[in-house]
Amino acid sequence: MELVEKINQLRKERNAVILAHNYQIPEVQDIADYVGDSLGLSIQASKTTADVIVFCGVYFMAETAKILSPEKTVLIPDAEAGCPMADMITAKELRKLKREHPRAKVLCYVNTTAEVKAACDVCCTSGNAEQIVQGAFRSEDEIIFAPDQYLAHYISTKIGRNFITWKGYCPIHVKILPEDIARKRVLYPNAEVMVHPECTPGVTTLADKVISTEGMMRHAKESKIREFIIGTEIGILHRLKKQNPEKSFYPVSERAVCPNMKLTTLEKVLWALEEMRYRVTVPADTIEKAKNSLRIMLEH
Ligand code: SF4
Repeated sequence: MELVEKINQLRKERNAVILAHNYQIPEVQDIADYVGDSLGLSIQASKTTADVIVFCGVYFMAETAKILSPEKTVLIPDAEAGCPMADMITAKELRKLKREHPRAKVLCYVNTTAEVKAACDVCCTSGNAEQIVQGAFRSEDEIIFAPDQYLAHYISTKIGRNFITWKGYCPIHVKILPEDIARKRVLYPNAEVMVHPECTPGVTTLADKVISTEGMMRHAKESKIREFIIGTEIGILHRLKKQNPEKSFYPVSERAVCPNMKLTTLEKVLWALEEMRYRVTVPADTIEKAKNSLRIMLEH
């Protein structure tokens, strides 16, 4: 039997839903029930009626699904698929930072471990960080924003608020360079440049739009523009091209490939469903604390 047929059969038998991040390989995106960014996938995980969630992404995302749906079985097809940015801050380091700034409220990017989420006040994604700072945190004098220094810098510059930041970053988005944008603008002079806020300030200041991956999807569909230069992990190009076959999309940099996101394959998805592995677990007290910060994220 074909791999995809086997996956489909087991998906039905197990009452499973397959969630895939925008940066997954095309074949995995194509068999998923839902493809999206961290926020979209979190929303799907929180409202699914399936018994099993197969999370095709990196570990903190599968943990987030478990926190939001603790009664469900959450599987990650490759347990080694981590996120180096999420590992750049530990709960111990965050607690130390909080002690140094006892009046500060803590906003954590969703790219953090479950323990870090449990130690913060509110989580955010790149798509709603600004609304949260302007909404839930509007009357706070001091805000710790961790771990992504570049997302924090972008929001800070945009809305004129200062943050206490952590020196984390995405090793993939920092590979996208200002000179890559200059080169691509020469090649595609009619194209609009959209980049992710995890990029460095040298890149975001050169872009036409700084936007989350889901924002890129929406804008590409609604815009009258027909050519786009995309500054984020290149996996998103598959979905952009699939949903907008009449438009053209070019990566700012072909180097922007996240090896952790590429660990999931169709074979591993099948094995996950066959053997019900690898089960994602989060301690009950961590779930209890972390789900509050995620609840506020989902409300924005
Ligand atoms: S692209 Fe960057 S932030 Fe996303 S999973 Fe990979 S390392 Fe982490």
